[in-house]
Amino acid sequence: MHYLLERVYQTNDLSKEEITYLLENLTQVDKEVLYNYALKTKQKYYGNKVYLRGLIEFSNICKQDCLYCGIRASNVKVKRYRLTPEEILACCDQAYELGYQTFVLQSGEDLWYTDEILVNLIQKIKKRYPEVAITLSIGERRVETYQNLFTCGADRFLMRHETASKELYETLHPTMRFEERRACLNALKGIGYQVGAGFMVGLPGQTFADLAEDLRYLMELRPDMIGIGPFIPHSETPLAKEKGGTIKDTLVMVAMARLLVPESLIPATTALGTLHPQGRELALKAGANVVMPIITPTSVRKQYALYENKICGDDHPEDCRYCIERRIQSAGFEVDLGRGDSRQFVACNS
Ligand code: SAH
Repeated sequence: MHYLLERVYQTNDLSKEEITYLLENLTQVDKEVLYNYALKTKQKYYGNKVYLRGLIEFSNICKQDCLYCGIRASNVKVKRYRLTPEEILACCDQAYELGYQTFVLQSGEDLWYTDEILVNLIQKIKKRYPEVAITLSIGERRVETYQNLFTCGADRFLMRHETASKELYETLHPTMRFEERRACLNALKGIGYQVGAGFMVGLPGQTFADLAEDLRYLMELRPDMIGIGPFIPHSETPLAKEKGGTIKDTLVMVAMARLLVPESLIPATTALGTLHPQGRELALKAGANVVMPIITPTSVRKQYALYENKICGDDHPEDCRYCIERRIQSAGFEVDLGRGDSRQFVACNS
């Protein structure tokens, strides 16, 4: 077995060079050991619980032009939609009835949703459901906006750093700046949000050293949540012909994130479920402890195609809710429908 495996399990710490060296030299047997160490570490911090969050993809309109993304502004083939605040509220009602205590509101960067519209919406949701956690994933906005949304009740914010390599970041995001993304994450943290960062695995040109840098960045930022998924090429983007990430490489990164930021919440992502029929279950066995079933209305959910062949396109919110529960149970874990705050957040606020 690789000597660094035992060390990362015992100390939750490795340098960038050590991570790179480990990633380059993992054998198949090492990978199984790694997943198992990550599972044990997850169990130490969170037991056997898996938290569920209801995901509402409320708009696929986006002003950004990320090379990998199916809803990038330049993709004229995608049929655009935007849910009204009333429609979003109706999704929340349905989510609540299905037992969710966290609603994740995700969209492209769509400025139709002004501060005023978002504040109003968040206030309405909080008034109706004071005990639920509201998670936003709406991309880059002004710090003042983040502050206003937090003040009126938003609890968490998901914004992947996407890649910690500045060069790769700027190639993939022609309309965005590397430093700005990090500044947003720092601002969100400073305001008091529980913050989720994360990255894609298998981006064109991405090296093991880049992935090691992703993990080192997470160790420094100490986010509450870490989203890691394989990059999946979309035919209507400039990266259509690229290879994309593999299930194995992604599972290795999920397990490494668990060992290096052990107290974080790590979702078994939809992208993993898309690559492999058991992708999410495998992630749960490699250290992940959150699943985010889609509750977007069936009428529009296929249009939120960040990548192709995304699972659950024809399903209804209740299908996803119970399908996931069965999957979690058959993988040997327990569903927890509570808010599921991160350990770090609970420790700072009690
Ligand atoms: N506009 C929001 C939400 C982005 S969509 C924001 O900027 O945060 C959520 C995530 O999907 C992205 O952060 C990205 O990591 C992932 N994603 C986008 N296109 C993808 C693709 N082709 N394959 C895999 N993941 C993708």
